[in-house]
Amino acid sequence: MAAWNLLLIMVKRNPNIGRLKAGYLFPEILRRRREFAALNPDARIINMGVGNTTEPVPPHICGALVEGARRLGRPETYSGYADEGLAGLREVISRVYYNGAFGIDEIFISDGAKCDIGRLQTLFGAEVRVAVQDPSYPVYVDGSVLSGAAGRENGFAGCGEGGCGGEGYAGVTYLPCTPENNYFPDLSGIGNGSVIYFCSPNNPTGAVTTKPQLAALTAAAHRTGSIIVYDAAYSEYIRDASLPKTIYEIDGARKCAIEVNSFSKSAGFTGVRLGWSVVPKELFFSGGEGVNAGWSRLTATVFNGASNIAQYGGIAALDDEGRKEIRGLTDFYLGNARLIREALKTLNISCTGGDNSPYIWARFPGRGSWDVFSEFLEKYHVVTTPGSGFGPAGETFIRFSAFGSRVDVEEACRRLTER
Ligand code: PLP
Repeated sequence: MAAWNLLLIMVKRNPNIGRLKAGYLFPEILRRRREFAALNPDARIINMGVGNTTEPVPPHICGALVEGARRLGRPETYSGYADEGLAGLREVISRVYYNGAFGIDEIFISDGAKCDIGRLQTLFGAEVRVAVQDPSYPVYVDGSVLSGAAGRENGFAGCGEGGCGGEGYAGVTYLPCTPENNYFPDLSGIGNGSVIYFCSPNNPTGAVTTKPQLAALTAAAHRTGSIIVYDAAYSEYIRDASLPKTIYEIDGARKCAIEVNSFSKSAGFTGVRLGWSVVPKELFFSGGEGVNAGWSRLTATVFNGASNIAQYGGIAALDDEGRKEIRGLTDFYLGNARLIREALKTLNISCTGGDNSPYIWARFPGRGSWDVFSEFLEKYHVVTTPGSGFGPAGETFIRFSAFGSRVDVEEACRRLTER
């Protein structure tokens, strides 16, 4: 018998993977959609659920991506590893997003915000407490489970039908964001020494935090000796000039906050992969070690930098022409959001978001979100995202995404209002 037939692997799986009891939300939605499609082959299903972009990268930015690829093909312009990112891109990010307030050694180029959030969870390790807005983007909690910081005590405390969302994980402080508190949570539950994940404009609620609210969040982080991971991936959707686009508009934030951001939803780079994190030098761990130095060490160890091609595209996205294209693209999705809001209004469904964000959070008091999901699929042939997938407080909501072609959004809205 060949030796490999006797092979018995003795390597154990990381037990934290087993603690992720919930199936990830989107595969479950896909499963249900396929099941429905198999039974209803004539239905033209429209997806209004996912946060994936649909419109092409605009020409000026796309041209820079093409030219970036060409540069790699010429000896005089070829470049290899760019470690923490091309200096030109870090400079322009500091200037455009932060008024030049950060040095380039405080801005780290990434292959996207989600990837950096995962690496940040390695930076914090298993010993930290975790606090999140509830509902929130799943990687904050699921990534914390993987890093060992959540879900250890008794695993998942229960998840609703479909295995997504439910009651939440042990070891995570959920900060409910509801219509009653205008989607800004009571901060008094944040424990000392927490990593607070906070997202504005928010996925999934579409709510945007005001300046006084962000000041209160910063004060709560100072009071509890916590670090905020501020996710500003949708900041380019903010149209109301009074709303803050970065947490660093708040005094004292440099001492308690890391900001992650991305070109995904602004320039259509979901498939290109480019983002950044700001890690200020004024930020320190409880033992006095600099967070910036720790992050630099960690990323040098497990990350070799974002694609140079993508970075040339990023530089073009932030020049005058690129800024105009970002504006056009985000205006387009906001136009979709307006149509969705209007359609929901005619159905008397109360909702939030969609004015300074690409998500609309629709409320169905007394009903389960998978239930509402099924109703929309069966009645309108429209796929939405059940709110419970984003945390316990999402149970009576579904999320509509404005990412879609205009033709699809118009057709979906017509069905909502006419069926
Ligand atoms: N942050 C939030 C709040 C998101 O909703 C998403 C994607 O949907 C991301 C980050 C992911 O960004 P990236 O494509 O840069 O990884």
